[in-house]
Amino acid sequence: MLRSVNPATGTMRAEFAPHSDADIDRALSAAVDAQASWRRVAVEDRVKVLSKLAQVLRANQSDYARIMTEEMGKPIGEALAEVEKCAWCCDYYAEQAPTMLADEPVSTAASESYVSYDPLGVVLAVMPWNYPFWQVFRFLAPALAAGNGAVLKHASNVPECALMIADAVKKAGLPDGLFATLLISASKVEGLIKDPRIAAVTLTGSTEVGMIIAAQAGSVIKKQVLELGGSDPFIVLADADLDKAAQVAAKARFHNAGQSCISPKRFIVEAKIADDFVDALCAHVDQIKVGDPLASDTTMGPMARSNLRSDLHEIVAATIATGARVIRGGAPSDGAGAFYPPTLLDGVEAAMPSFRIETFGPVGNIVRAADARAAISLANDTEFGLGASLWTGDIEKGRSLMRDIDAGAVFLNSMVASDPRIPFGGIKMSGYGRELGVLGLREFTNIKTNMIA
Ligand code: NAP
Repeated sequence: MLRSVNPATGTMRAEFAPHSDADIDRALSAAVDAQASWRRVAVEDRVKVLSKLAQVLRANQSDYARIMTEEMGKPIGEALAEVEKCAWCCDYYAEQAPTMLADEPVSTAASESYVSYDPLGVVLAVMPWNYPFWQVFRFLAPALAAGNGAVLKHASNVPECALMIADAVKKAGLPDGLFATLLISASKVEGLIKDPRIAAVTLTGSTEVGMIIAAQAGSVIKKQVLELGGSDPFIVLADADLDKAAQVAAKARFHNAGQSCISPKRFIVEAKIADDFVDALCAHVDQIKVGDPLASDTTMGPMARSNLRSDLHEIVAATIATGARVIRGGAPSDGAGAFYPPTLLDGVEAAMPSFRIETFGPVGNIVRAADARAAISLANDTEFGLGASLWTGDIEKGRSLMRDIDAGAVFLNSMVASDPRIPFGGIKMSGYGRELGVLGLREFTNIKTNMIA
């Protein structure tokens, strides 16, 4: 059974029987049939469904947001914003995809030569629970615009979100079968990847699962996009606007209870201003209101599952045991629900567990660096390479240092955020391939060379 448990209370909301092998088989065949027709629909007509999908999302915003909050615990304000962001993404591709997918002439000796962006087929999406709508829509909107079909295997703890996404797609009038939500366990994924009806796979999830899926897809030479874990640095140089940096640091680290791949996990601060930065950060962290995620004034809810909280606490305890100092939080909250308080660890060093392992929850690690060069070197001293945030009052110095940071995105004097207009993705163990922007749209296309003699 797939269980939907409210992490704020620990109570079971609903149980869902998984789809059977026969259900999976029917869904794959229907998706292949529907995609064979969809690929022949002009892109200008395909994107009309995306415009409708944006309307459906907005019309049902509060219902969808409430389900997200009840299933995985994010504050209701963040859930409402997430639904709106999905609608924005649909609108963006509805407007831009026809231009982005247009044939591109290339001058050669042939009488005509051009590149076309043709669909790939049916794409399998394996998705996480942390942004249960956004992670799906940032893949789905461009994939559909490009003429593909899609099959979703969502995280097991958000089955109702998965069903609501299917509901939205149906209401928007997508052809029957072109998109399917399968309520299945992770053990069924390998069979799907290897099924000839699946053309490609996209995973947003942990690096550990990325390695498994990459090997399975590699064994059948199927295209993959992997959006994996991160341990993003937030580098504060001595000439930065400290209060602004601290305010943004608190927001970036603790929204969604810290369960964001691009949330900064390591605050790497030049030693001479570190105490001032830490004081300012603590002042902002102390404003965070932890509580019932359905209450409109709550700014941080529980973690999404109690086992995630125990995993996080193990890393915190091991880091304290190696010499880090707890300056806020540091132990699971008492009472019902998977609450963990906003936690700050000071004196974290490169060899400590929470520097090396992704802290996927409300824990910020403060690392002191001798100077700017040492800060960049610490920032890169990680197996991950997703995002990075750099703070300095000297834009030219910042511009130059940005090039030295090994990450898929570097944001100067702001927090890392995804945006439909710009590519999103990582390097190193954070994965490969891109979502969003024109490059994300083209990941699941056949970039075809056309030559006419
Ligand atoms: P996860 O455990 O890797 O799960 C992600 C998805 O993979 C779920 O649907 C899960 O299904 C499935 N899965 C688990 N084991 C599998 C296996 N052996 N074979 C095939 N599929 C399998 O990750 P998570 O805990 O849900 O999410 C947190 C992680 O995602 C963090 O590391 C975070 O940084 C990363 N993330 C990355 C991005 C990005 O864009 N780079 C964005 C968000 C999150 P079940 O739920 O059924 O196990």
